[in-house]
Amino acid sequence: MKIAFIGLGNMGAPMAANLVKAGHEVSVFDLVDAAMKSLERAGAHACASAQSAANGAEIVISMLPAGQHVRRLYLGRENSPGLFEALDGKPLIIDASTISPEDARFVGDAAAERGLTYLDAPVSGGVGGAQAGTLTFIVGGTESGFEQARPVLEGMGKNIFHAGEIGAGQVAKICNNMLLGILMSGTAEALALGVKNGLDPAVLSEIMKQSSGGNWALNVYNPWPGVMEGSAASRDYQGGFLTDLMAKDLGLAWELALDSKAAVPMGSQARNLFALHSAQGHGGKDFSSIQKLYRAGEEE
Ligand code: NAD
Repeated sequence: MKIAFIGLGNMGAPMAANLVKAGHEVSVFDLVDAAMKSLERAGAHACASAQSAANGAEIVISMLPAGQHVRRLYLGRENSPGLFEALDGKPLIIDASTISPEDARFVGDAAAERGLTYLDAPVSGGVGGAQAGTLTFIVGGTESGFEQARPVLEGMGKNIFHAGEIGAGQVAKICNNMLLGILMSGTAEALALGVKNGLDPAVLSEIMKQSSGGNWALNVYNPWPGVMEGSAASRDYQGGFLTDLMAKDLGLAWELALDSKAAVPMGSQARNLFALHSAQGHGGKDFSSIQKLYRAGEEE
């Protein structure tokens, strides 16, 4: 298929590369030139704008940081039209970014006004999952749109869920990431407590992994440096899933809770921890660097 892929960051770049590997004709655009160069080497066609990438595409996929970027891409802003206005055909629109359900519905309604099908399809699985093509996609939108998207999503992921109407994918993703924020900070807290009391972090990790505290952070994303080869923690928390993106997702959970009058005391605690960690200068590091918050005062 002819696919346009917009946003080639930590997640988008390996996802687009997997679409090329799956045999699709992929045109790409990112604001950062270096990101496009590396995709060109992987066999994609680098374009000068989102519009030229989308020209003639059957599917447009976006993977951008936050809601305002998605709104701007598709709807434009003063004096600069968005992609919806500039499209020459009627491609299926799949936004894989994590944004609020409200933003997803807003962009989805604007798409429908132009006769376009829009799906929100946020992902889970991290950069490792994006590279391995084993992401989980959580899709909101019509059944027919979902069925049209499925074969393409299978080129980038292993588990493809249809959560409900537009916005439902984002609700499920936000619930998942709120739990992830709680699990990662809880895991960092338990490791720091054990180490302060003389335990080896690798030994403690193995014990908790095989015990009732076992969770995804311990299994594939250990936050303590050196415990897990290839983890973000073992490369000074570079790349991966940025603290600021986790703080954004916990903010989305908080807004969702306010709107629906749901109580999220644990999620609120996690939001404050990641906001504090970001304010201390770690917003651009992987979110597992929350471990540092529990190691304050230690000699580096
Ligand atoms: P990132 O910051 O690494 O990448 C975002 C990319 O979008 C950047 O390369 C940036 O230049 C580009 N961009 C921004 N505005 C653009 C525009 N108007 N046109 C073209 N390109 C533009 O972020 P990421 O880690 O790849 O995450 C992307 C989304 O996926 C976020 O919503 C994030 O919450 C979500 N997510 C991330 C992970 C993860 O582990 N990193 C996991 C699941 C979901």
